[in-house]
Amino acid sequence: MIAGAGVGGLAAAVGLADAGFAVSVIERAPQVTEIGAGIQLTPNATAALARLGLLDRVAAVAVEPRAMVIRNGRSGHEILRMPLGSTVARRFGRPWLVVHRADLIAALAAAVAATPAIKITLGTTVEAFALNPEGVTVSLVTGRERREETAAALIGADGLWSMVRRGAGDARAPVVSGRTAWRTTIPSESLPPELAGLDSGLWLGPDAHLVHYPIRRGSACNIVAVVRDETAVTIKPSEAGGSSWSGVGDPEVLIRRFERWAAPARALIEQPATWLTWRLADRPPLTAWGRGAQTLLGDAAHPMLPFLAQGAAMAIEDAVVLTQAMAAQPGNLPAALRAYEAIRRPRTARVQKEARINSLAYHLAGPAALARDVVLQTRGPAGLLSRYRWLYGWRPD
Ligand SMILES: Cc1cc2nc3c(=O)[nH]c(=O)nc-3n(C[C@H](O)[C@H](O)[C@H](O)COP(=O)(O)OP(=O)(O)OC[C@H]3O[C@@H](n4cnc5c(N)ncnc54)[C@H](O)[C@@H]3O)c2cc1C
Repeated sequence: MIAGAGVGGLAAAVGLADAGFAVSVIERAPQVTEIGAGIQLTPNATAALARLGLLDRVAAVAVEPRAMVIRNGRSGHEILRMPLGSTVARRFGRPWLVVHRADLIAALAAAVAATPAIKITLGTTVEAFALNPEGVTVSLVTGRERREETAAALIGADGLWSMVRRGAGDARAPVVSGRTAWRTTIPSESLPPELAGLDSGLWLGPDAHLVHYPIRRGSACNIVAVVRDETAVTIKPSEAGGSSWSGVGDPEVLIRRFERWAAPARALIEQPATWLTWRLADRPPLTAWGRGAQTLLGDAAHPMLPFLAQGAAMAIEDAVVLTQAMAAQPGNLPAALRAYEAIRRPRTARVQKEARINSLAYHLAGPAALARDVVLQTRGPAGLLSRYRWLYGWRPD
């Protein structure tokens, strides 16, 4: 049984069903959907999707950007142009894709729907679980109805606020980062001419950064502005639950935050758009993800700040390794789950840590920012890709 039909839960369902397991996915929301924003899938994520047989479906609805252009937010000058497209595909053997989240989830949900061994139950919450000698007894709630089901194993893929994690005895709250992400999508014809085309952009400035990239075959652009400041935004708990606190931001607040930025960056911020806000949070790496026939996967296990664009990537990698571990020891699932955790914990902890480091580096000001830009320029595009070979070069065994 998998709690949660996010990217991680759906990917794991497909992997496990292909490996011969009967999979029951329980999702609290009445529908399998995602918010209207984009997501980057770095070559390690696309390698994991390929191993799950999902890459073709996802690539069909994704864009392969030509380059990532890193600019200084205030002056607008180009710090570094990192070729993506064929350069990355040649170097890592897999593409760097960007995709609308709804398109990614729809592609994964279509694969789930085409797999008879997966049963998906919507509008139902995993509320509690108890380990037993055969596996797990899980309490499920649908509306006012409560029932118990047994499973050979329970995988908590239920996001940042994971109930399965709490049920396993870890009730600590996430760590609030003091940063808020503002996200919107706009039609690509609204882009300033300097930013039209199939490049991704990263603008670095004091206490803020801005990311944009094409989605929906280049017909739309995804914009993410991350600012160090949480007081200016009204936070209300997300109705859908899921991976973060979310709300709707006041565009005037954002416009003021970027008023001294270069004109093309301001043009992105000044779009007449609805901005959804996420108060960013993570957790320090866990020493244990589960006991007996229970484990965690994705944000439930290792929520991270989005400064490396790796949360979903790690969830999809988890799905591959979990599948391999369970297929290797189907007769002893607790041992299989411990083997999965032993492989995944060090890598995901490193990514959590590096994402926190980037959260500082991206928002530097004054001489420290200048030094960062010089380091980036000295490294150059090839140096930057080498620096992240450990991350993007991941391959399933
Ligand atoms: C601003 C921002 C930008 C990002 N950009 C990127 C990026 O470019 N690349 C990248 O790889 N990652 C990115 N991420 C991270 C990525 O979005 C998450 O890491 C990823 O979505 C986590 O997937 P998940 O399946 O683990 O959890 P979730 O997507 O949170 O899914 C959890 C699911 O579980 C369900 N659920 C919760 N509780 C229960 C319960 N008790 N019972 C049943 N169901 C339950 C929820 O409804 C939800 O459907 C970004 C994140 C943010 C905030």
